[in-house]
Amino acid sequence: MKDVVRYLILSDLHANLDALDAVLADASGAWDRMLVLGDLVGYGAEPNQVVDRVRALKPIAAIRGNHDKAACGLDDGSQFNHVARLAAEWTGGQLTAGNREYLRQLPSGPIQVDALVEICHGSPFDEDQYIFDGHDASDALLTATRPLCLFGHTHLPVMFRALAETVQGSVPDPDVDTALRLESGARYLVNVGSVGQPRDGDPRAAYGIVDDGSREVRMRRVLYPVESAQRKILAAGLPASLANRLAIGR
Ligand code: ZN
Repeated sequence: MKDVVRYLILSDLHANLDALDAVLADASGAWDRMLVLGDLVGYGAEPNQVVDRVRALKPIAAIRGNHDKAACGLDDGSQFNHVARLAAEWTGGQLTAGNREYLRQLPSGPIQVDALVEICHGSPFDEDQYIFDGHDASDALLTATRPLCLFGHTHLPVMFRALAETVQGSVPDPDVDTALRLESGARYLVNVGSVGQPRDGDPRAAYGIVDDGSREVRMRRVLYPVESAQRKILAAGLPASLANRLAIGR
């Protein structure tokens, strides 16, 4: 009999150590292996601390996001808006040599984790592509190779379910712990949301757990000390808008 694995799903951490530590405390004991879907750094004020924390927890799969590429010099950030580019440059100047190298060697998605799960940052056919609606999801499902494809990049929790030719999207209620039971024969694209910079109007950190035994995806929201993360952003001299948005989750 195969061992049951519970995966902790972290995406878009964005150098927010306060949020990451709250998530890790909330998830303590509820997972066996960690999957990281990219954007460990960028926007937030603690890039080295977040990368150190992730490295210490030894994820079995971790992929890069667009902000990781910009911060470690693999990308020039020319696609970024002004604030994002400022943050990427600041982050690049902060990273230790070891953490820069760690980010540089992160693979692009998608990665097939097991027979059930694959992970990507933006979309399975393009790591920088955004999946917002059912049309984007239909395109993505053409290249997904597992029943459950987990993605990030938009920072918006959402679940798309495809059965035959029909794709249905649904947004989880943030006030209820969401548990999605995967039906056999259906295929799913799921974004569990962002740890470090939620954008759905709920400032709480978001993460997920996938249980490959019960074939369940759980999505959770966790309060964290937003003011602490904001203070560090301002003290670092990063744009105040990056602190302000954390309080409103946008
Ligand atoms: Zn991101």
